[in-house]
Amino acid sequence: MASDSPWPRPADAPAAEDLSRCVHCGLCVNSCPTYAITGLEAESPRGRIHLMKAVAEGRIPLTATVQSHWELCLQCRACEAVCPSGVPYGRLMEKTRAQLDAAPPSGAQSRQMRRFLLRNVVARPRVLAAILAPVRWLANSAVRTAAVRSGILHLIPPLARGERMLPNRVGAPLRRGGDVPQPAAPRGEAILFTGCVMGELFGDVHRATARVLARAGIRTENAPLQVCCGALSAHDGDLEFARRLARQNIDALEGSEAPIVVNSAGCGAAMKEYGELLDGDRAYAERARAFSARVRDATEYVAGLGVETPAAFTGRVAYQDPCHLAHAQRIREQPRQLLRSTGCELVETNGADMCCGAAGIYSLVQPTMSAALRERKADQFRAARPDVVVTANPGCQLQYQAAVREAGIEARVMHVMELLDEAQARAETERQD
Ligand code: SF4
Ligand code: SF4
Repeated sequence: MASDSPWPRPADAPAAEDLSRCVHCGLCVNSCPTYAITGLEAESPRGRIHLMKAVAEGRIPLTATVQSHWELCLQCRACEAVCPSGVPYGRLMEKTRAQLDAAPPSGAQSRQMRRFLLRNVVARPRVLAAILAPVRWLANSAVRTAAVRSGILHLIPPLARGERMLPNRVGAPLRRGGDVPQPAAPRGEAILFTGCVMGELFGDVHRATARVLARAGIRTENAPLQVCCGALSAHDGDLEFARRLARQNIDALEGSEAPIVVNSAGCGAAMKEYGELLDGDRAYAERARAFSARVRDATEYVAGLGVETPAAFTGRVAYQDPCHLAHAQRIREQPRQLLRSTGCELVETNGADMCCGAAGIYSLVQPTMSAALRERKADQFRAARPDVVVTANPGCQLQYQAAVREAGIEARVMHVMELLDEAQARAETERQD
């Protein structure tokens, strides 16, 4: 039977009741990064919701231009966090994106390619490991250092862009099931979520997290059957695949009451919303809600332990809120509390909670807007002169490494868990001396 819905995928269409919550007050507009750069109503949350409503009510067709306004959205959810009407903007945009691969072409080929890569590379641990092995080599290689020093990259802009997106240095991977540091005298236990790209390129962050947990007496399990959280697929509108990954993680990690500790803000936000993602799945809805209730961001979990581990860190530290920690999970104070506990000088920069432009795969698919947002961060770092830029999400770490270089300052870029680990290790060394 033919559907009379204006949306090509009615089962996953934005809900009319969600759309009707927007009263067009505009209080969200100034928190929107794409509006800050363009000044255009169509690139603001209110403008994008207007377009969703107009399509839903059949007043305008789903043209390539309409789609482009939604595709420029970072899904940072800064608008959702300030909206007085409680518009669930993240859910609206995920459902809107779910329409696009079935809609008339607007870069349809690149959409198919993204979907292919997210399903067949990012979500497949062995394939991902094989693809990222040369990236790890290149990031740490003398070839890269020589190319940067020689200035030759400026002559080939695509290479310069690619080099900027490489991590400064990549430690050994920490994959699912791998060994992690454990406490001498455990007082509790937690499951460490290792993820996909995070496990390959940010193994050092996982090991730092496990050491911080171990000092607090928490035994860490690195569950061998966990898979990618599905956030990148959900944000790209591939809800079917995101649901498949969510079910796999529920199967792998249920059967225990242990909290699931996540040190990637984007993954944590997605996993806290499995209950919503699988709401229509009779077999999984209840299990998904129970799963989500166990998910904790690493900063939230460690701050909640209430354990004072001696820490020693000097220097100016600028904390930058990851969008999916501040806006989606509403966690702002715990990372700052942990950083203050190290003795560092915590510096607040302008727009610390505005998106850096990394946003999952956004920097690859919207490089111009991503670069404009990175330059704003570079300007803020140039003014604040921090010794360390700290965040709590892998994509943001890469973007900040590039922003620090653009700012022309000598600052390290670290995850909150890495700084905490280093500060605790320094305090241990000082005690022993
Ligand atoms: S999304 Fe919320 S804040 Fe933005 S215009 Fe609508 S009601 Fe106002
Ligand atoms: S999610 Fe972020 S980029 Fe998208 S409309 Fe909201 S504030 Fe703007």
